Amino acid sequence: MRIVVLAGGIGGARFLRGLKAAVPEAEITVVGNTGDDIHLFGLKVCPDLDTVMYTLGDGINEEQGWGRRDESWSIREEMAAYGVEPTWFGLGDRDYATHIVRTQMLGAGYPLSAVTEALCARWQPGVRLIPMSDDRVETHVVIDDPDKPGTRKAVHFQEYWVRLRAAPTAHAIVPVGIETAKPAPGVLEAIAEADLILFPPSNPVVSVGTILGVPGIREALVAAEAPVIGLSPIIGGAPVRGMADRVLEAVGVETSAAAVAQHYGPGLLDGWLVDTIDAAAVLSVEAAGIPCRAIPLLMSDVEATAEMARAALALADEVR
Ligand code: GDP
Ligand code: CA
Repeated sequence: MRIVVLAGGIGGARFLRGLKAAVPEAEITVVGNTGDDIHLFGLKVCPDLDTVMYTLGDGINEEQGWGRRDESWSIREEMAAYGVEPTWFGLGDRDYATHIVRTQMLGAGYPLSAVTEALCARWQPGVRLIPMSDDRVETHVVIDDPDKPGTRKAVHFQEYWVRLRAAPTAHAIVPVGIETAKPAPGVLEAIAEADLILFPPSNPVVSVGTILGVPGIREALVAAEAPVIGLSPIIGGAPVRGMADRVLEAVGVETSAAAVAQHYGPGLLDGWLVDTIDAAAVLSVEAAGIPCRAIPLLMSDVEATAEMARAALALADEVR
């Protein structure tokens, strides 16, 4: 079975671990979000790709959900001693090595997809990890300027998310460069040849939403023979972790499992899973034309997550 998963960082990575446990024989292609990418100190950092790679490659810091296990912070301390900004984005020493290798390969002319493949040769994530695009796309957020009341400004997504903790009101999410971005080699082919396509419980706006914004990807999903099944990242009217409610608000979508399903829409989704505490939403999602089931959606451990993956497979079989 060939499965394609559109993934952001932590939610996507944790789901993938459960999916691999549920269907160890499946051939899984992960289309990763690169809208969160940021250039820091001359280095190209791809937080979502790395979270997937480290999580599936058993190098992740489990408690944090991002970054390397057994990390040290000497480089950060040295940079701080020089007074170099920004200081709010955490890059550990081990993690730095990944960004140095990536930047060096990009500088030598390799596309990001080839670089990602090379990094994965070390981590052996057990999936084929492809960035959504080899072209530079950077999500920016238009916010109320915290320093100048009454005015707005655009900041990089990471500045909004990490430095500002999504506190200022966001008025627009702007994936800079997306209009001219092309899907990375293999993305459209994987979607066309898939037996199943999954939206894990990743951020519907700045993770899955960004991937869907790459011209050609949404169209390929709609045209694909495989059913598209999504799992809600929203449980009981709130994100399980993080601040997805802030970016949903920015695009005018209510923070509920049902509203996220309708935001994707029946043209795209062939099935949707909500948590059991949102069981009351099943009827309204189905009324919107999207087959829906309620099951426990907390990724508390790999087995609980594998159960979620099995439920997604079962729903796909029902709607196929
Ligand atoms: P990011 O790039 O690290 O922000 O990660 P993703 O975009 O992949 O996923 C973030 C989303 O995962 C958030 O909206 C969370 O609500 C969701 N999430 C995290 N843990 C869980 C969980 O255990 N269950 C569900 N259903 N969603 C989760
Ligand atoms: Ca992310």
